[in-house]
Amino acid sequence: MKRLSLLVTVLLLFGCAHPNNQPIAVSSVVSEVFDGSGYPVEVCDSSYVGKPANCILSGSGSSQIIRGNVISDGKLYVGGGLLIGNDGRIKASGCKLPQEAAVTLDCPGSLISAGFINLHEHIDYSFQQPPHPPTLKWKHRYEWQKLSAAERGFDYWAPDKKKSPDEWTEVSERAMLRHALSGSTSISGAKDFRAFLRNLKLNTDSLATPYGKPVEDSTFPIWSESKQWLTAPCDTTQINAIKFDKDDPYIPHVGEGTNDGARFEIGCVLDAIQSKTTPNAFIHVVAIDDAQIERLKTQDVSAVVSPRSNFQLYGATAPLVNLKTAGINMAIGTDWSPSGSLTELDEARCLARYNRDRLNGSFTWSDIHRMMTENGAKAVGLQGQLGKLAVGEYADIVILDSAGRHSLGEVLENSALKETIAVFIGGRAASFPSAWVGKLSELDNCSPDPRDLCGQQRTVCGGDAQRSLTKLLQQSTYTIDDTKICVPQPTDDCVAL
Ligand SMILES: [Zn+2]
Repeated sequence: MKRLSLLVTVLLLFGCAHPNNQPIAVSSVVSEVFDGSGYPVEVCDSSYVGKPANCILSGSGSSQIIRGNVISDGKLYVGGGLLIGNDGRIKASGCKLPQEAAVTLDCPGSLISAGFINLHEHIDYSFQQPPHPPTLKWKHRYEWQKLSAAERGFDYWAPDKKKSPDEWTEVSERAMLRHALSGSTSISGAKDFRAFLRNLKLNTDSLATPYGKPVEDSTFPIWSESKQWLTAPCDTTQINAIKFDKDDPYIPHVGEGTNDGARFEIGCVLDAIQSKTTPNAFIHVVAIDDAQIERLKTQDVSAVVSPRSNFQLYGATAPLVNLKTAGINMAIGTDWSPSGSLTELDEARCLARYNRDRLNGSFTWSDIHRMMTENGAKAVGLQGQLGKLAVGEYADIVILDSAGRHSLGEVLENSALKETIAVFIGGRAASFPSAWVGKLSELDNCSPDPRDLCGQQRTVCGGDAQRSLTKLLQQSTYTIDDTKICVPQPTDDCVAL
């Protein structure tokens, strides 16, 4: 590897020529060291690739340095680093960092990414999984909602908030724990729960949105008590009945299904938000047509897609290539455990499998990584705060073991909880090996995870002060076996359409 590094250095310094005198693109040579799967790569130190991750902590100071193979501000630095100030923000990134007294976490063999932003969850419904995907497919969500569990092929329910508040709280926090352990650092759809990762609906503390404005999610912007879908475009009365706070980022579910009723919804909500100037993002948009995609572009509305849940329920997802071609900002989210993915990385892999098998590879892994990170931030107005590990942003970070792999795509294809070494929120350790306790700046309320999932002793911070982790893990309504998230979720249901 050192010889290759020298070769790269020489090529960077002097350029080179192919035997037929055609210049070789430097990037094609760098990709032999590590393939950014669409991200430009800069090699700072090639000895950081081709080996399993091995993190060493040293030094002291109020700042922190994290070294590894870092994706920062749209570029992948092999053997690069991040300097994090004591305000939790990135002070510098890249090959060379300013000299400063700092706690240093040096992780050759790791991939260091912005934490994942999951913009689509129903946190109190995300505690059980059906044994098999449903065999029936529907045209609109009202079709399956009207059926019995036996007819539908899966059950779904949430504990009653008023009658069983403890149960309701505990299943929700367990779901948040699952996402937090596996690399998500921000979530939407988590009600008012404060636990383990940023809840973008909160705007009050270290586990809240840094925007200052709560993200307003809305599952049913157009409500029908009798579960009747629209049979025509909305009239003015229907448009005026769509309620939202014009000052807040707004992410309603629209176009969930494949029929005209789902399609009409999209036009209705586009009409309703016409004069709204704060960020908007539409969840699902499975039924969107080309004219509506143009309106998304004109009105600067993002799309949040959840392919796995869409495939299971409707046998189709949003027209991803058309959305990409039109330049729509696209993010992803897991939806819920009854039909969606257990983790954000699993949702990304579902999209990647569909992309490879059915979309002719229209999306690179860097495109998909952006959908998990910076595009999600942009969708809810958090660009410049989260998502890119750019200078000035909060240090919301996930560190993955690259396991010696040589491309971003291979690392993301193969990483699950077993490969997730540590997660940071605002520069503070949120989930990490228990051997590091007391050596890094940590979130509040830390506890060892007694389960030692995937054979690792891990400490988790940011839990609710009223509920110990041990108590949380004792409740029995949450029936997902969390050892499942040690390995990637299979993706066959993402192409069996
Ligand atoms: Zn949903």
